[in-house]
Amino acid sequence: MAARQVIWAGAAVVAAAVGVNYVFAQTREYKSGVVWPEPKVVTPGPTAADPPADAIVLLGGNDTSKWKESNSWEWKGDHAVVKSKSGVTTKDAYGDCQIHVEFATPEKVSSSGQGRGNSGVYLMGKYEVQILDSFENKTYFDGQCAAIYKQTPPLVNVSRKPGEWQTFDIVFEAPRFGDGGKLLKPGYVTVLHNGVLVQNHFELQGGTFYDRPAAYDKGGHADRLPLHIQYHGNPVKFRNIWIREIPPIVGKKPQ
Ligand code: MG
Repeated sequence: MAARQVIWAGAAVVAAAVGVNYVFAQTREYKSGVVWPEPKVVTPGPTAADPPADAIVLLGGNDTSKWKESNSWEWKGDHAVVKSKSGVTTKDAYGDCQIHVEFATPEKVSSSGQGRGNSGVYLMGKYEVQILDSFENKTYFDGQCAAIYKQTPPLVNVSRKPGEWQTFDIVFEAPRFGDGGKLLKPGYVTVLHNGVLVQNHFELQGGTFYDRPAAYDKGGHADRLPLHIQYHGNPVKFRNIWIREIPPIVGKKPQ
């Protein structure tokens, strides 16, 4: 037996002994047999913060036309602030989606707790991912930055200093309702704050309320609803907001 064959035979024995499923040349390859559509080609942005080709840019390049209250955004150079007390809401509705948001809480700290850099990304206008200046600013934990407001704190606090740009990358699975508004499947939220996982497929307990526990709408709601950004009295800066719809990829199982 040639030296190389001896080495491979030895490796196979060791792999079998430790239960490793290495694929050796003599093994027949398994294939699922599922007939998949070919994944669509999407050109990524120059960096992970830039919108890929299939994203809808909601806020960028001084354009606020994707918002119902386009005049409620005030541009200040390369960013915008919300100036309407009722916040801003997109014209279009979205269901399952990926969202990128860049924000900066005010550099000048003028309050504390919930009064410091408060805003929020309201998925479907109902489920709040909290924006707050949580850099050395204590508040109730399920109300700090990147919390699902009054439902769960973030896994860790990765807040940057006041005035510094921060990112949320959110993956959202919308809840599904059946006849009579019966909840068939809850919503789920995954959030990366400044690139760090802070919400890991969290099961939403319902919509966000200030004065009562989270609850889903009794009659259910549509599979798609507009995105909302909260105004909470603080001039939180925003730039580069984009969204991608994420339809599932569905294959045909073998008969
Ligand atoms: Mg808020």
